[in-house]
Amino acid sequence: MSGTLYVVATPIGNRADISARAIEVLSAVDLIAAEDTRHSRPLLKHYGVRTPLQALHEHNERQQAEALVARLKAGESIALISDAGTPLISDPGFNLVRAARAAGVTVVPVPGPSALIAALSAAGLPTDRFVFEGFLPSRPAARRERLAALAEEPRTLVFYESSHRIADSLADMRELFGAGRPAAVARELSKAFEEIQSGTLEELLDWLQADPNRRRGEFVVLVHGAPPAAEDEDEARRVLGVLLEEMPLKKAAALAARLTGQRKNRLYQLALEMTAEGASEGERP
Ligand code: SAM
Repeated sequence: MSGTLYVVATPIGNRADISARAIEVLSAVDLIAAEDTRHSRPLLKHYGVRTPLQALHEHNERQQAEALVARLKAGESIALISDAGTPLISDPGFNLVRAARAAGVTVVPVPGPSALIAALSAAGLPTDRFVFEGFLPSRPAARRERLAALAEEPRTLVFYESSHRIADSLADMRELFGAGRPAAVARELSKAFEEIQSGTLEELLDWLQADPNRRRGEFVVLVHGAPPAAEDEDEARRVLGVLLEEMPLKKAAALAARLTGQRKNRLYQLALEMTAEGASEGERP
């Protein structure tokens, strides 16, 4: 009989957030495969768990997975944990879980904390449909390309972000999603300096820049899905219609972008179209 692979969630900050079942399973298995044994050892000691540990990080996962599946097939039980939260959620473990299931080993989740779900549950943005994007690419061009591809996504968007990229990512989101898009930043969840700040992308960037302490720690960024295109266009046409009567096209587009939070380039194009429509209407006999 094969053993079982348990995928065990651990806290994302507050050590009291471990489940009773997680401690039970971690104590009972033959081996714990951990993302970083140096990180997990003190945590497990805190819970009185004395099970042997083995490293399973990104760089050795493929080779280790094979050896771990052999042990599972031989009847041993193994628990997989990561440094924080739920394994496989922007964390190692996918290769092991896939290999174990392919080999017919039973894989049992032991659910618990994840920054993604904790942030969604308290951010006040729609949760009925959402898209988890994990970490954005670190290179600015690739990050902007990814965000541009998400600009029309109607579901709530959820990103993980680190302290050194949070300001740049929010600035790119403001540009590509529009300054007026509602969003939230969840920082240091379940820890001493937990904060969940809501606002438009413009307001959140101002909030972040107002105090360097707000850029410290771990972040989840949540962005409201794009409003239906027709709704956006109606609003843009209404605002541009007023402004174009008072000022040149370029200035009207820039001001409309500030008023509606929509993208300047798109509003400039729309203003051009509206001016052309107005001119051809004027030509009619
Ligand atoms: N597996 C984890 C989970 O289930 O949430 C995520 C691991 S991923 C390597 C680490 C990222 O998760 C951080 O950079 C941050 O974006 C997010 N994160 C983890 N803990 C957090 C916390 N306490 N508060 C806010 N974000 C957190």
